[in-house]
Amino acid sequence: MSTIFEKIARREIPAEIVWENELFLAFLDINPKSKGHTLVIPKKPYPWVLDVPEFGQYWEAAKEVALKIKKALKPAYISFQTFGVEVPHAHIHIVPFYSLTEKYERYKATPEELKEVGEQIRRA
Ligand code: AMP
Repeated sequence: MSTIFEKIARREIPAEIVWENELFLAFLDINPKSKGHTLVIPKKPYPWVLDVPEFGQYWEAAKEVALKIKKALKPAYISFQTFGVEVPHAHIHIVPFYSLTEKYERYKATPEELKEVGEQIRRA
């Protein structure tokens, strides 16, 4: 059975896609921890980040997306995180933070805001 991320990669369900190449796809997290919180997934359904054969290329892809987020949204810094307990399809969280002192952002995004932020990142 395919996961929700596999369905996003196959364009079977919508997502705010901000970047892609042949192997990887980046889209906004639907429940963002901060403005611009993005997930980078392999298009093929590997369960864990560690399972992705093109591991170096995967992190290079995450860097490329993070540089676009940095340019578009000018955060104080960007955190890279991997968990994977909710969706068993590898994903790197790219979480921009806008303060050097606050560990967690308090942020809620409307669907309209997600669209606007997605557009800003795509344009960067
Ligand atoms: P985790 O597996 O613990 O790394 O968390 C999965 C992440 O995927 C959470 O931050 C969710 O908000 C996010 N998520 C779940 N479904 C979707 C979706 N359809 N589109 C975008 N992000 C999603």
